[in-house]
Amino acid sequence: MSNYEAVIGMEVHAELLTDSKMFCSCRNEFGGEPNTRCCPVCLGMPGSLPVMNRKAVEHVIRTAIALNCVINPNAKFDRKNYFYPDLPKGYQISEYDNPIGESGWIEIDINGVTSKVRIRRVHLEEDTGKLSHVIGDESEVDYNRSGVPLMEIVTEFPPDMHSAEEAYAYVTALRSILTYIGVSDGKMEEGSMRCEPNLSVRPVGYEGFGVKTEIKNLNSFRAVLKGAQYEIDRQIRILQSGGTIIQETRGWNDARQETFSQRSKEGEQEYRYFPEPDLVPLDITQEWIDEIRKTMPELPRAMRERFVSQYGIPEYDAGVLTQARSVALFFEQTATLCGDPKAASNWIMGDFARLLNMEGIEIHQSKVTPTHLAEMIKLISQDVISGKMAKELFEEMYETGADPRELAKLMGPQISDESSLGAILDEVISSQRDVWDALIAGDEKKFGYMVGQIMKVSKGKANPQQVNRLLRERVQSS
Ligand SMILES: [Zn+2]
Repeated sequence: MSNYEAVIGMEVHAELLTDSKMFCSCRNEFGGEPNTRCCPVCLGMPGSLPVMNRKAVEHVIRTAIALNCVINPNAKFDRKNYFYPDLPKGYQISEYDNPIGESGWIEIDINGVTSKVRIRRVHLEEDTGKLSHVIGDESEVDYNRSGVPLMEIVTEFPPDMHSAEEAYAYVTALRSILTYIGVSDGKMEEGSMRCEPNLSVRPVGYEGFGVKTEIKNLNSFRAVLKGAQYEIDRQIRILQSGGTIIQETRGWNDARQETFSQRSKEGEQEYRYFPEPDLVPLDITQEWIDEIRKTMPELPRAMRERFVSQYGIPEYDAGVLTQARSVALFFEQTATLCGDPKAASNWIMGDFARLLNMEGIEIHQSKVTPTHLAEMIKLISQDVISGKMAKELFEEMYETGADPRELAKLMGPQISDESSLGAILDEVISSQRDVWDALIAGDEKKFGYMVGQIMKVSKGKANPQQVNRLLRERVQSS
Protein backbone atom coordinates (compact mmCIF):
# COMPACT_ATOMS: atom_id res chain seq x y z
CA MET A 1 0.00 0.00 0.00
CA SER A 2 2.99 2.25 0.36
CA ASN A 3 3.10 3.35 -3.28
CA TYR A 4 -0.17 5.30 -3.03
CA GLU A 5 -0.86 8.60 -1.32
CA ALA A 6 -4.19 9.97 -0.17
CA VAL A 7 -5.49 13.43 -1.08
CA ILE A 8 -8.03 14.74 1.42
CA GLY A 9 -10.22 17.83 1.40
CA MET A 10 -12.71 18.74 4.11
CA GLU A 11 -16.02 20.53 4.36
CA VAL A 12 -17.09 21.51 7.83
CA HIS A 13 -20.51 22.90 8.71
CA ALA A 14 -20.87 24.63 12.06
CA GLU A 15 -24.11 25.95 13.50
CA LEU A 16 -23.54 29.41 14.91
CA LEU A 17 -24.20 30.42 18.50
CA THR A 18 -26.87 33.08 18.14
CA ASP A 19 -30.11 33.73 20.03
CA SER A 20 -32.25 33.72 16.93
CA LYS A 21 -32.24 32.14 13.50
CA MET A 22 -30.51 33.52 10.39
CA PHE A 23 -33.38 35.41 8.79
CA CYS A 24 -36.18 35.47 11.41
CA SER A 25 -36.59 35.92 15.17
CA CYS A 26 -37.34 32.25 15.97
CA ARG A 27 -35.17 30.83 18.74
CA ASN A 28 -31.95 29.04 17.78
CA GLU A 29 -31.69 26.24 20.30
CA PHE A 30 -30.94 22.52 20.13
CA GLY A 31 -33.76 20.14 21.02
CA GLY A 32 -37.34 21.12 21.88
CA GLU A 33 -40.66 19.73 20.67
CA PRO A 34 -40.57 19.36 16.87
CA ASN A 35 -41.94 22.31 14.88
CA THR A 36 -42.36 24.64 17.87
CA ARG A 37 -39.68 27.15 16.79
CA CYS A 38 -40.93 28.12 13.38
CA CYS A 39 -42.56 31.08 11.65
CA PRO A 40 -43.61 31.93 8.09
CA VAL A 41 -40.02 32.95 7.20
CA CYS A 42 -38.26 29.74 8.22
CA LEU A 43 -41.17 27.67 6.92
CA GLY A 44 -40.72 29.34 3.53
CA MET A 45 -44.27 30.74 3.25
CA PRO A 46 -44.89 32.79 0.10
CA GLY A 47 -44.52 36.50 0.70
CA SER A 48 -42.40 36.23 3.83
CA LEU A 49 -39.18 38.22 3.79
CA PRO A 50 -35.78 37.42 5.34
CA VAL A 51 -34.15 39.85 7.78
CA MET A 52 -30.43 39.33 8.21
CA ASN A 53 -29.00 38.34 11.61
CA ARG A 54 -26.09 40.73 12.20
CA LYS A 55 -24.64 38.56 14.98
CA ALA A 56 -24.33 35.60 12.59
CA VAL A 57 -22.46 37.75 10.06
CA GLU A 58 -20.13 38.94 12.84
CA HIS A 59 -19.46 35.34 13.85
CA VAL A 60 -18.38 34.49 10.32
CA ILE A 61 -16.16 37.59 10.12
CA ARG A 62 -14.66 36.55 13.45
CA THR A 63 -14.00 33.08 12.08
CA ALA A 64 -12.50 34.50 8.89
CA ILE A 65 -10.10 36.60 11.01
CA ALA A 66 -9.13 33.57 13.15
CA LEU A 67 -8.54 31.46 10.03
CA ASN A 68 -6.29 34.12 8.44
CA CYS A 69 -8.73 34.77 5.60
CA VAL A 70 -9.07 37.71 3.26
CA ILE A 71 -12.41 39.32 4.06
CA ASN A 72 -14.64 40.21 1.15
CA PRO A 73 -16.19 43.66 1.84
CA ASN A 74 -19.06 43.04 -0.57
CA ALA A 75 -20.00 39.49 0.33
CA LYS A 76 -23.52 38.72 -0.81
CA PHE A 77 -26.18 36.08 -0.48
CA ASP A 78 -27.35 33.77 -3.26
CA ARG A 79 -30.13 31.29 -3.70
CA LYS A 80 -29.10 27.68 -4.10
CA ASN A 81 -32.04 26.00 -5.74
CA TYR A 82 -32.92 22.39 -5.17
CA PHE A 83 -35.89 20.39 -4.01
CA TYR A 84 -35.92 18.34 -0.84
CA PRO A 85 -38.61 17.90 1.87
CA ASP A 86 -36.41 19.44 4.59
CA LEU A 87 -36.14 22.66 2.53
CA PRO A 88 -39.60 24.22 2.40
CA LYS A 89 -38.63 27.24 0.25
CA GLY A 90 -37.21 25.05 -2.51
CA TYR A 91 -33.95 26.97 -2.18
CA GLN A 92 -31.35 27.59 0.48
CA ILE A 93 -29.94 31.06 1.09
CA SER A 94 -26.17 30.68 0.87
CA GLU A 95 -23.14 32.50 -0.51
CA TYR A 96 -21.88 31.41 -3.90
CA ASP A 97 -19.27 33.58 -5.61
CA ASN A 98 -18.73 36.23 -2.92
CA PRO A 99 -18.21 34.41 0.39
CA ILE A 100 -17.30 36.40 3.53
CA GLY A 101 -13.84 34.83 3.90
CA GLU A 102 -11.39 33.44 1.33
CA SER A 103 -7.78 32.20 1.08
CA GLY A 104 -7.11 31.44 4.74
CA TRP A 105 -5.11 28.76 6.53
CA ILE A 106 -4.59 27.08 9.85
CA GLU A 107 -1.67 25.14 11.26
CA ILE A 108 -1.82 21.55 12.46
CA ASP A 109 0.73 19.37 14.24
CA ILE A 110 1.50 15.72 13.59
CA ASN A 111 4.18 14.17 15.81
CA GLY A 112 5.74 17.53 16.48
CA VAL A 113 5.80 18.58 12.82
CA THR A 114 3.76 21.67 11.98
CA SER A 115 2.11 22.10 8.61
CA LYS A 116 -0.37 24.50 7.04
CA VAL A 117 -3.80 23.51 5.79
CA ARG A 118 -5.10 26.17 3.42
CA ILE A 119 -8.73 27.20 3.53
CA ARG A 120 -10.55 28.10 0.33
CA ARG A 121 -13.63 29.76 1.76
CA VAL A 122 -15.75 30.50 4.81
CA HIS A 123 -19.33 31.35 4.10
CA LEU A 124 -22.67 31.84 5.76
CA GLU A 125 -25.89 30.02 4.95
CA GLU A 126 -29.01 28.68 6.61
CA ASP A 127 -29.51 25.16 7.89
CA THR A 128 -32.27 22.91 6.60
CA GLY A 129 -34.96 21.12 8.60
CA LYS A 130 -34.35 17.63 9.86
CA LEU A 131 -35.90 14.50 8.39
CA SER A 132 -36.36 11.41 10.46
CA HIS A 133 -37.22 8.20 8.73
CA VAL A 134 -39.95 6.60 10.79
CA ILE A 135 -41.01 3.28 9.27
CA GLY A 136 -40.55 2.11 5.71
CA ASP A 137 -41.27 4.99 3.34
CA GLU A 138 -42.77 7.21 6.05
CA SER A 139 -40.75 10.28 7.02
CA GLU A 140 -41.30 13.04 9.54
CA VAL A 141 -39.78 16.49 9.27
CA ASP A 142 -38.87 18.90 12.06
CA TYR A 143 -38.39 22.53 10.98
CA ASN A 144 -36.91 23.75 14.29
CA ARG A 145 -33.49 23.60 12.63
CA SER A 146 -34.71 25.24 9.43
CA GLY A 147 -33.05 28.65 9.07
CA VAL A 148 -30.50 28.18 11.86
CA PRO A 149 -27.36 30.14 10.91
CA LEU A 150 -24.81 27.76 9.48
CA MET A 151 -21.21 28.42 8.54
CA GLU A 152 -19.37 26.35 5.98
CA ILE A 153 -15.59 26.07 5.97
CA VAL A 154 -14.00 24.44 2.93
CA THR A 155 -10.33 23.54 2.51
CA GLU A 156 -8.36 24.74 -0.54
CA PHE A 157 -7.96 22.79 -3.75
CA PRO A 158 -5.62 21.04 -4.40
CA PRO A 159 -5.95 19.70 -0.87
CA ASP A 160 -3.04 19.88 1.56
CA MET A 161 -3.93 16.83 3.62
CA HIS A 162 -2.62 13.37 2.84
CA SER A 163 -3.48 11.15 5.79
CA ALA A 164 -6.33 10.31 8.13
CA GLU A 165 -4.23 11.67 11.02
CA GLU A 166 -3.98 15.04 9.27
CA ALA A 167 -7.73 15.09 8.67
CA TYR A 168 -8.25 14.38 12.37
CA ALA A 169 -5.73 17.03 13.42
CA TYR A 170 -7.43 19.55 11.12
CA VAL A 171 -10.95 19.07 12.46
CA THR A 172 -9.82 19.08 16.09
CA ALA A 173 -7.74 22.24 15.58
CA LEU A 174 -10.65 23.88 13.79
CA ARG A 175 -13.10 22.95 16.55
CA SER A 176 -10.71 24.37 19.10
CA ILE A 177 -10.57 27.70 17.27
CA LEU A 178 -14.34 27.93 16.76
CA THR A 179 -15.07 27.28 20.42
CA TYR A 180 -12.31 29.67 21.60
CA ILE A 181 -13.76 32.54 19.61
CA GLY A 182 -17.26 31.62 20.79
CA VAL A 183 -18.95 31.23 17.40
CA SER A 184 -19.97 27.58 17.81
CA ASP A 185 -20.29 25.08 20.62
CA GLY A 186 -18.59 22.49 18.38
CA LYS A 187 -20.80 19.68 19.63
CA MET A 188 -20.56 16.98 17.00
CA GLU A 189 -22.91 14.64 18.85
CA GLU A 190 -25.67 17.27 18.64
CA GLY A 191 -24.92 17.94 14.99
CA SER A 192 -23.77 21.49 15.59
CA MET A 193 -20.46 20.66 13.90
CA ARG A 194 -20.50 18.31 10.92
CA CYS A 195 -17.42 17.11 9.06
CA GLU A 196 -17.39 15.72 5.55
CA PRO A 197 -14.03 14.60 4.20
CA ASN A 198 -13.60 13.99 0.48
CA LEU A 199 -10.86 11.58 -0.45
CA SER A 200 -9.02 10.13 -3.38
CA VAL A 201 -5.78 8.22 -3.73
CA ARG A 202 -3.06 8.37 -6.38
CA PRO A 203 0.28 6.71 -7.05
CA VAL A 204 3.07 8.55 -5.26
CA GLY A 205 4.64 11.05 -7.64
CA TYR A 206 1.56 11.33 -9.87
CA GLU A 207 0.40 14.95 -10.27
CA GLY A 208 -3.22 14.32 -11.24
CA PHE A 209 -6.08 13.29 -9.02
CA GLY A 210 -7.97 10.06 -8.59
CA VAL A 211 -11.75 9.72 -8.46
CA LYS A 212 -12.92 10.98 -5.07
CA THR A 213 -15.58 9.85 -2.67
CA GLU A 214 -17.15 11.89 0.10
CA ILE A 215 -18.05 10.61 3.57
CA LYS A 216 -21.22 12.09 5.09
CA ASN A 217 -22.70 12.05 8.58
CA LEU A 218 -19.60 11.56 10.67
CA ASN A 219 -20.66 12.30 14.23
CA SER A 220 -17.36 12.25 16.11
CA PHE A 221 -13.72 13.14 15.55
CA ARG A 222 -12.88 9.50 16.01
CA ALA A 223 -15.23 8.70 13.16
CA VAL A 224 -13.33 11.23 10.99
CA LEU A 225 -10.08 9.41 11.76
CA LYS A 226 -11.45 5.89 11.34
CA GLY A 227 -13.69 6.72 8.39
CA ALA A 228 -10.91 8.44 6.45
CA GLN A 229 -8.48 5.60 7.10
CA TYR A 230 -11.05 3.00 6.07
CA GLU A 231 -11.82 4.86 2.86
CA ILE A 232 -8.14 5.33 1.94
CA ASP A 233 -7.49 1.61 2.47
CA ARG A 234 -10.63 0.63 0.54
CA GLN A 235 -9.68 2.76 -2.47
CA ILE A 236 -6.12 1.44 -2.55
CA ARG A 237 -7.41 -2.14 -2.35
CA ILE A 238 -9.74 -1.56 -5.29
CA LEU A 239 -7.01 0.02 -7.43
CA GLN A 240 -4.49 -2.67 -6.60
CA SER A 241 -6.92 -5.37 -7.63
CA GLY A 242 -7.48 -3.60 -10.96
CA GLY A 243 -10.90 -2.15 -10.09
CA THR A 244 -12.31 1.38 -10.57
CA ILE A 245 -13.39 3.86 -7.90
CA ILE A 246 -16.93 5.17 -8.34
CA GLN A 247 -17.52 8.83 -7.54
CA GLU A 248 -20.10 8.65 -4.78
CA THR A 249 -21.26 9.75 -1.37
CA ARG A 250 -20.63 7.22 1.36
CA GLY A 251 -21.96 6.89 4.89
CA TRP A 252 -20.13 5.70 7.98
CA ASN A 253 -21.30 2.69 9.97
CA ASP A 254 -19.83 3.21 13.40
CA ALA A 255 -20.76 -0.25 14.69
CA ARG A 256 -19.08 -2.02 11.78
CA GLN A 257 -16.32 0.61 11.46
CA GLU A 258 -16.72 0.82 7.71
CA THR A 259 -18.06 3.13 5.03
CA PHE A 260 -20.93 2.14 2.74
CA SER A 261 -22.28 3.46 -0.54
CA GLN A 262 -25.14 5.98 -0.19
CA ARG A 263 -25.62 7.44 -3.65
CA SER A 264 -23.51 7.87 -6.71
CA LYS A 265 -22.91 11.38 -7.98
CA GLU A 266 -23.49 11.92 -11.69
CA GLY A 267 -21.29 15.00 -11.94
CA GLU A 268 -22.04 18.27 -10.15
CA GLN A 269 -25.69 18.93 -9.42
CA GLU A 270 -27.06 22.03 -11.19
CA TYR A 271 -28.18 24.39 -8.43
CA ARG A 272 -28.95 27.39 -10.67
CA TYR A 273 -27.47 29.86 -8.19
CA PHE A 274 -28.58 33.46 -8.51
CA PRO A 275 -28.27 36.50 -6.20
CA GLU A 276 -30.85 36.58 -3.41
CA PRO A 277 -33.17 39.43 -4.44
CA ASP A 278 -34.60 39.96 -0.94
CA LEU A 279 -31.26 40.82 0.70
CA VAL A 280 -28.83 43.61 -0.09
CA PRO A 281 -25.12 42.72 -0.35
CA LEU A 282 -23.19 43.07 2.89
CA ASP A 283 -21.08 46.13 3.47
CA ILE A 284 -18.20 44.91 5.61
CA THR A 285 -16.17 48.00 6.44
CA GLN A 286 -12.63 48.03 7.76
CA GLU A 287 -13.97 49.71 10.93
CA TRP A 288 -16.34 46.80 11.50
CA ILE A 289 -13.53 44.26 11.02
CA ASP A 290 -11.24 46.20 13.39
CA GLU A 291 -14.02 46.37 15.96
CA ILE A 292 -14.39 42.58 15.86
CA ARG A 293 -10.62 42.05 15.84
CA LYS A 294 -10.38 43.98 19.12
CA THR A 295 -12.61 41.44 20.86
CA MET A 296 -10.69 38.36 19.65
CA PRO A 297 -9.34 36.20 22.48
CA GLU A 298 -5.90 34.64 22.44
CA LEU A 299 -6.12 31.63 20.09
CA PRO A 300 -5.21 28.04 21.08
CA ARG A 301 -1.83 27.97 19.33
CA ALA A 302 -0.63 31.25 20.77
CA MET A 303 -1.82 30.18 24.20
CA ARG A 304 -0.04 26.84 23.88
CA GLU A 305 3.27 28.49 23.00
CA ARG A 306 2.86 30.96 25.83
CA PHE A 307 2.15 28.18 28.35
CA VAL A 308 5.43 26.49 27.43
CA SER A 309 7.50 29.65 27.72
CA GLN A 310 5.70 31.27 30.64
CA TYR A 311 5.02 28.24 32.84
CA GLY A 312 7.78 25.90 31.68
CA ILE A 313 5.41 22.97 31.15
CA PRO A 314 6.12 20.37 28.44
CA GLU A 315 4.85 20.98 24.90
CA TYR A 316 2.59 17.93 25.27
CA ASP A 317 0.88 19.28 28.40
CA ALA A 318 0.38 22.67 26.80
CA GLY A 319 -1.24 21.00 23.77
CA VAL A 320 -3.71 19.04 25.89
CA LEU A 321 -4.52 21.96 28.19
CA THR A 322 -5.26 24.41 25.38
CA GLN A 323 -7.65 22.23 23.38
CA ALA A 324 -10.58 23.76 25.24
CA ARG A 325 -10.42 27.36 26.40
CA SER A 326 -12.19 26.64 29.70
CA VAL A 327 -9.49 24.09 30.58
CA ALA A 328 -6.72 26.49 29.58
CA LEU A 329 -8.16 29.26 31.75
CA PHE A 330 -8.63 26.84 34.66
CA PHE A 331 -5.01 25.73 34.37
CA GLU A 332 -3.71 29.25 34.20
CA GLN A 333 -5.55 30.36 37.33
CA THR A 334 -4.53 27.26 39.28
CA ALA A 335 -0.88 27.50 38.23
CA THR A 336 -0.74 31.17 39.21
CA LEU A 337 -2.36 30.54 42.59
CA CYS A 338 -0.29 27.52 43.63
CA GLY A 339 3.00 28.50 42.01
CA ASP A 340 3.56 24.96 40.70
CA PRO A 341 2.41 24.82 37.06
CA LYS A 342 3.52 21.24 36.47
CA ALA A 343 1.54 19.98 39.46
CA ALA A 344 -1.52 21.93 38.26
CA SER A 345 -1.12 20.43 34.80
CA ASN A 346 -0.74 16.88 36.17
CA TRP A 347 -3.90 17.12 38.23
CA ILE A 348 -5.97 18.68 35.45
CA MET A 349 -4.83 16.18 32.82
CA GLY A 350 -4.92 13.21 35.23
CA ASP A 351 -7.45 12.58 38.00
CA PHE A 352 -9.54 15.64 37.17
CA ALA A 353 -9.90 14.80 33.46
CA ARG A 354 -10.74 11.19 34.31
CA LEU A 355 -13.60 12.20 36.65
CA LEU A 356 -14.92 14.82 34.21
CA ASN A 357 -14.92 12.22 31.43
CA MET A 358 -16.76 9.71 33.56
CA GLU A 359 -19.44 12.24 34.37
CA GLY A 360 -19.47 13.65 30.84
CA ILE A 361 -19.19 17.30 31.87
CA GLU A 362 -16.89 20.21 31.10
CA ILE A 363 -14.36 21.59 33.55
CA HIS A 364 -16.30 24.82 34.19
CA GLN A 365 -19.36 22.77 35.19
CA SER A 366 -17.45 20.98 37.95
CA LYS A 367 -17.60 21.81 41.66
CA VAL A 368 -13.82 22.08 41.86
CA THR A 369 -12.53 25.65 41.56
CA PRO A 370 -9.00 26.76 40.61
CA THR A 371 -8.67 28.19 44.14
CA HIS A 372 -9.43 24.82 45.75
CA LEU A 373 -7.19 22.83 43.43
CA ALA A 374 -4.36 25.30 44.10
CA GLU A 375 -4.94 24.97 47.86
CA MET A 376 -4.76 21.20 47.61
CA ILE A 377 -1.49 21.33 45.66
CA LYS A 378 -0.07 23.60 48.37
CA LEU A 379 -1.13 21.12 51.07
CA ILE A 380 0.93 18.46 49.30
CA SER A 381 4.02 20.63 48.89
CA GLN A 382 3.76 21.73 52.54
CA ASP A 383 3.72 18.03 53.54
CA VAL A 384 0.33 18.39 55.24
CA ILE A 385 -1.02 15.57 53.12
CA SER A 386 0.72 12.85 51.10
CA GLY A 387 0.21 12.38 47.38
CA LYS A 388 -1.82 9.30 48.14
CA MET A 389 -4.08 11.18 50.57
CA ALA A 390 -4.45 13.89 47.96
CA LYS A 391 -5.93 11.43 45.48
CA GLU A 392 -8.62 10.55 47.98
CA LEU A 393 -9.12 14.15 49.00
CA PHE A 394 -9.45 15.21 45.38
CA GLU A 395 -12.26 12.72 44.74
CA GLU A 396 -14.07 14.01 47.81
CA MET A 397 -13.56 17.60 46.70
CA TYR A 398 -14.81 16.68 43.22
CA GLU A 399 -17.99 15.13 44.67
CA THR A 400 -18.81 17.83 47.20
CA GLY A 401 -16.95 20.98 46.21
CA ALA A 402 -15.66 21.19 49.80
CA ASP A 403 -12.63 23.24 50.86
CA PRO A 404 -9.50 21.04 50.72
CA ARG A 405 -8.21 22.46 54.03
CA GLU A 406 -11.38 21.30 55.79
CA LEU A 407 -11.15 17.90 54.11
CA ALA A 408 -7.50 17.54 55.13
CA LYS A 409 -8.48 18.25 58.77
CA LEU A 410 -11.13 15.54 58.63
CA MET A 411 -8.68 13.03 57.14
CA GLY A 412 -6.22 13.69 59.95
CA PRO A 413 -2.67 14.80 59.34
CA GLN A 414 0.00 12.98 57.42
CA ILE A 415 2.17 10.80 59.66
CA SER A 416 5.71 12.15 59.51
CA ASP A 417 7.14 11.68 63.02
CA GLU A 418 9.72 8.96 63.37
CA SER A 419 8.30 7.17 66.40
CA SER A 420 4.82 6.66 64.86
CA LEU A 421 6.34 5.56 61.58
CA GLY A 422 8.78 3.29 63.45
CA ALA A 423 5.86 1.52 65.13
CA ILE A 424 4.19 0.92 61.77
CA LEU A 425 7.48 -0.36 60.36
CA ASP A 426 7.78 -2.87 63.22
CA GLU A 427 4.26 -4.07 62.62
CA VAL A 428 4.80 -4.61 58.91
CA ILE A 429 8.19 -6.27 59.37
CA SER A 430 6.75 -8.82 61.80
CA SER A 431 3.71 -9.56 59.62
CA GLN A 432 5.81 -9.82 56.44
CA ARG A 433 8.71 -11.80 57.89
CA ASP A 434 9.48 -13.74 54.65
CA VAL A 435 9.54 -10.63 52.53
CA TRP A 436 11.67 -8.81 55.06
CA ASP A 437 14.18 -11.67 55.21
CA ALA A 438 14.42 -11.71 51.43
CA LEU A 439 14.94 -7.94 51.39
CA ILE A 440 17.79 -7.93 53.87
CA ALA A 441 19.28 -10.91 52.03
CA GLY A 442 19.60 -8.55 49.07
CA ASP A 443 16.36 -8.91 47.05
CA GLU A 444 15.91 -5.19 46.21
CA LYS A 445 12.61 -5.81 44.46
CA LYS A 446 11.01 -6.38 47.85
CA PHE A 447 11.76 -2.80 48.92
CA GLY A 448 8.89 -1.28 46.98
CA TYR A 449 6.56 -3.98 48.21
CA MET A 450 7.42 -3.18 51.82
CA VAL A 451 6.84 0.54 51.23
CA GLY A 452 3.47 -0.35 49.74
CA GLN A 453 2.53 -2.42 52.80
CA ILE A 454 3.54 0.39 55.15
CA MET A 455 1.44 2.89 53.19
CA LYS A 456 -1.46 0.46 53.32
CA VAL A 457 -1.25 -0.12 57.07
CA SER A 458 -1.07 3.66 57.61
CA LYS A 459 -4.16 4.05 55.38
CA GLY A 460 -2.09 6.17 53.02
CA LYS A 461 -1.20 8.71 55.68
CA ALA A 462 2.46 7.86 56.12
CA ASN A 463 4.83 10.41 54.58
CA PRO A 464 6.31 8.40 51.68
CA GLN A 465 9.71 10.16 51.71
CA GLN A 466 10.07 9.46 55.42
CA VAL A 467 8.98 5.85 54.98
CA ASN A 468 11.57 5.34 52.25
CA ARG A 469 14.32 6.86 54.36
CA LEU A 470 13.46 4.95 57.54
CA LEU A 471 13.05 1.63 55.77
CA ARG A 472 16.40 2.12 54.01
CA GLU A 473 18.06 2.79 57.34
CA ARG A 474 16.54 -0.36 58.81
CA VAL A 475 17.71 -2.48 55.89
CA GLN A 476 21.24 -1.10 56.13
CA SER A 477 21.46 -1.70 59.88
CA SER A 478 20.04 -5.22 59.69
ZN1 LIG B 1 -38.69 31.53 11.91
